[in-house]
This record gives sequence, C-alpha cells and structure tokens, in this order.
Amino acid sequence: MPLIKRIVVAGGAGFLGSHLCERLVEQGHDVICLDNFFTSQKANVSHMLEKSNFELIRHDIVTPILLEVDEIYNLACPAAPGHYQYNPIKTLKISVQGSINLLGMAKRCGAKIFQASTSEVYGDPEVHPQPESYRGAVNPIGPRACYDEGKRAAETLFFDYHRMHKTNIRVCRIFNTYGPRMHPFDGRVVSNFIRQALSGQDITIFGDGSQTRSFCYRDDLVEGFLRLMAAPDDVVGPINMGNQGEYTIKELAEIIVELVGSGSKLVYQPLPPDDPTRRQPDISLAKKHLDWEPKVPLREGLEKTIAWFRTIEMEHFRPPTPNYQM
Ligand code: NAD
Ligand code: UDP
Repeated sequence: MPLIKRIVVAGGAGFLGSHLCERLVEQGHDVICLDNFFTSQKANVSHMLEKSNFELIRHDIVTPILLEVDEIYNLACPAAPGHYQYNPIKTLKISVQGSINLLGMAKRCGAKIFQASTSEVYGDPEVHPQPESYRGAVNPIGPRACYDEGKRAAETLFFDYHRMHKTNIRVCRIFNTYGPRMHPFDGRVVSNFIRQALSGQDITIFGDGSQTRSFCYRDDLVEGFLRLMAAPDDVVGPINMGNQGEYTIKELAEIIVELVGSGSKLVYQPLPPDDPTRRQPDISLAKKHLDWEPKVPLREGLEKTIAWFRTIEMEHFRPPTPNYQM
C-alpha cells in the first residue's frame, strides 16, 4: 500500500492548487490547504470539504503557522500581472517572507518542499527557447519586478536552505498554464479572451499581438508537479515545465474566437511595460529526469476550458482587484 503523507498545499484554493489538492486527496494523502483567497474562492475546493482527508485553513503565508507535515507545496502568490502589481510590496513579501515561513516549517519537520517558480525568472529573454541554465533578463525596477524578483529571491532561499540545512527542495519553473478554474477576472490572457469571446465583448490584444507565449494545460502541469516531488532526492531543479507549442497572442485570440463561435472583434491596446516578447520552454530536463512532457494540444485544452467557462455564473466571481483588464 502506498505511504499516506500529510501534505500542505499553500495557495491550494487557487487555479492550480485546487487541482493539485484533488490529485493528492484522490491518492489518499492527508491534505491541508492553506489560502487567504486573495485571487481565488472557497468554491474551488468546497467539493472536497466533506472528505475526511481534506482540511481548509484560511491563512496568509506571510505569517508563520505551526503544522506537522511530510510535504509542502508552495503555490501561494498572485500570478496575473494586474493583481500582483496591485500591491507590489505585498507581492514581494509573499514570495520572500512566505517562503521563509514555509522553508522554516520544512526544516523543523524534515519535510520535502516544492516551490512554484515561474518562467518570469527569465524576464524578457534574449535566449530562445529558455533552458534552466539561462540566467534571465529581468528589469529589477520595473512594474513586473515585484513578482519576477520575488520569485527569483524565493529560488535563492530554497537553494540556501538546501545547501545550509540539507532541506529537501524541488523548484519548478512554470510557463503559462491555463484550464478550468482559472479565475474569470484574473486578467490573464486565456481567461480574458474566453470571457470576452463568450460575452461578445471586444478581445483586448495588448500591443500588436506578435508577442508569443506557450500554453500548457493544467492537468499536464500538475502531473509534472507530482513527478518532480516523487523524483530521486538529487532532482531538486530548477526544472522548466510548460508546453512547447508557441503561439502569438493574435493567433490565440483567433483560435478562441473560432472555438467559441463568437462575433467578438479584436481590438488593440497599448503593450504593458516589460511585457516579454517571446517565451517558450526548453523541457529537456523534465523529459530526461521525470519522463514528463505535455500531452494536451492547445485546441483540446481550450475546448475543455471554454466548456467550463460556459458552466459558471460570472456574478459569483469577485474581481480580486480592479486590474483584471490591465
Ligand atoms: P492563483 O491565483 O489561482 O493561485 C494562487 C493562490 O494563492 C490563490 O488561491 C490565492 O488566493 C493564494 N494566495 C495568494 N497570496 C496568498 C498568501 N499571502 N497566503 C496564502 N495564499 C495566498 O494562480 P495559479 O495560476 O494557480 O498559480 C499558482 C502558483 O503557480 C503561483 O505561485 C504562481 O506564481 C505560479 N505560476 C503559475 C503560472 C500559470 O500560468 N498559472 C505560471 C507561472 C507560475
Ligand atoms: N494579453 C493581452 N490581452 C489581455 C491580457 C493579456 O494581449 O487581455 C497579453 C499580455 O500583454 C502578454 C500575454 O497576453 O503579452 C500573456 O499575458 P498574461 O498576463 O496571461 O501572462 P504573462 O504576461 O505573465 O505571460
């Protein structure tokens, strides 16, 4: 019988965190979800509340919490530019102080700890696609720095705990991921375009739409998280995870309009400062060490995501900040 572990998922009520909690609960683990619901809502996890192996705690990771656990996943952080820029000082605190608190818990309990890092550590990259060895081109004083530099500092903390205290760490650099349970007002490109297409509103393309991103479906990514956590102890990362299919933002808009069958027009708005021009993961390390690569093609993943968006009532979702159309 597989070993039952007590596992904390910080940010566990979010888009990725709630799916991770589901996978861990299905595997029979004792799951403790910590979340302050800044960019999510209880509804994402309410279907698990009656399970005896799931527990939900409203908690902000900037404050310490005393728990006895075997594994920790740190996903707690606003992830969309508009929301992480709303209170940039708090965003930086979440990555730095929040990581220190969770790393302290890992050290005290001897627990294994996973960090949801990001492709944003590469900034606006001069190397394409981006391998983990690339050190990035981040503007340390720009509007995205609170997130990018926060996640970079969190990686530093994880590796310092690993070197200094032998903490068992796993660092995953996540590239743009989408799927059911994305907050409809989180302001990211996939959720914005689907919401706009479904309601017949204009599709807001920032810049000329020639910037690229590579979009990974949620289930593929979370499978990668589980494999990284289960990998041998020398596979600490950082390890890229994302889909290698690269699309311009204009192409993404056209596909979503077509799949929704919408009459929405594409409109062009100014490009936000420091918006990366190209992004595509090099996933050789994930393939080699975890035998992992994404399976769900973009159109199939978008169809599932659109189907979920058709089932929700928009008025049940509170925009986390006014910045979902930034
Ligand atoms: P999300 O906003 O849905 O999830 C983040 C969760 O963290 C939310 O439930 C939010 O309420 C919670 N949270 C925020 N601040 C907190 C705090 N101080 N204390 C406790 N909980 C807090 O976003 P997501 O897409 O599920 O992202 C999860 C993680 O993955 C984030 O750390 C994000 O930076 C990282 N990531 C995501 C992507 C992506 O494309 N989805 C890409 C790169 C990195
Ligand atoms: N974007 C856009 N319209 C929107 C939201 C985003 O054109 O309504 C663009 C944004 O400028 C960026 C890309 O889509 O070039 C991805 O944006 P997102 O916020 O999803 O993620 P990130 O920039 O962090 O990769």
